[in-house]
Amino acid sequence: MEATFIPKVKELLASADTIVIITHHNPDGDAIGSSLALWHYLRKCNYKPEIVVSSDFPDFYKWMPGADSIRMATKDKELCESLLANAKLIFCLDFNMAERAESLAEPLLKASGSKVLIDHHQSPSDIFTLAHSQINTSSTSELIYDFISAMGDESKVDNDIATAIYVGLITDTGSFSYNCDYPNTYAVTSKLFEHNINGEKIHRLVYGTFSESRLRLLGYCLSQKLTIVGEYSTAYISITREEMKRFDFSNGDSEGIVNYGLTIKDVKLAALFSERNNHVKLSLRSFGNLNVGMIARKHFAGGGHKNASGANIYKSLDEAIADFLAILPLYNEYLS
Ligand code: 5GP
Ligand code: MN
Repeated sequence: MEATFIPKVKELLASADTIVIITHHNPDGDAIGSSLALWHYLRKCNYKPEIVVSSDFPDFYKWMPGADSIRMATKDKELCESLLANAKLIFCLDFNMAERAESLAEPLLKASGSKVLIDHHQSPSDIFTLAHSQINTSSTSELIYDFISAMGDESKVDNDIATAIYVGLITDTGSFSYNCDYPNTYAVTSKLFEHNINGEKIHRLVYGTFSESRLRLLGYCLSQKLTIVGEYSTAYISITREEMKRFDFSNGDSEGIVNYGLTIKDVKLAALFSERNNHVKLSLRSFGNLNVGMIARKHFAGGGHKNASGANIYKSLDEAIADFLAILPLYNEYLS
């Protein structure tokens, strides 16, 4: 964290009577966790922050304290837009380019309030007034803990804040199985448990509340839809809209499926293509030095991290898969 970041945030907070926290479209556990952690913290500092997001989020995050206060543009677009327009200070969490806010991208860009970025993705854009962008960390949630601590407010961390941060930590590291080689991650985790959080219960609420159809979709993907491209150490799965309907798909049901490809010995690149209304959602995961964040940016106008990235491809499912297969030879040195 740059030495000037905290004094500058304090200066902005001193005159901010309206504060909005915004995170990315289709928020995941880190997006929701970091936003709620900051929301609870700012409330403890006597502010009245609002969280806005472009879309709904999976039910397995709805139990989180404060989750029902999150404003969604899909339900209340005008309110989200006016909150952004009237905010003196806007915290942008777990994304670093306006487009990731989808329907709220324009309102975010137009907003006159100061924009403070706290994020861990590669290649931040330059739309922010202040930025704390740290790639070498587990999650934005970990950065929020560091932020609260750097504000001199570690004593304000409570069970709600610790719970939110823990959800971000476990979801962005696959329960401490990737992106987790940072000593600070464990130092922060250890402090979270001083606030009486129940790690086992939180894990169950996030990962152990599948619907039957979600589990069956996973089984179907693994037994019927997994394709191995042995020559390029790659595994991919595609899901059509018809299949999503068949398995009574709801928001979040495909989360985690892409990771299974990487569990095969020697597979270094895994992809999931899921067909949406007017585009294909691509998820990429890699093991080792292959930078899938760069691949998503360069070939698919997406983004993300070195080992986990994604993009929306505005083509048919078959075309998206063909485009993906066509670029594999370019990365032969990492995949053979
Ligand atoms: P997931 O595959 O879990 O949806 O996303 C993995 C990572 O890639 C996340 O860090 C997410 O922020 C990023 N990501 C996913 N989809 C997109 C996208 O459409 N654009 C950009 N820039 N990043 C994405
Ligand atoms: Mn994240």
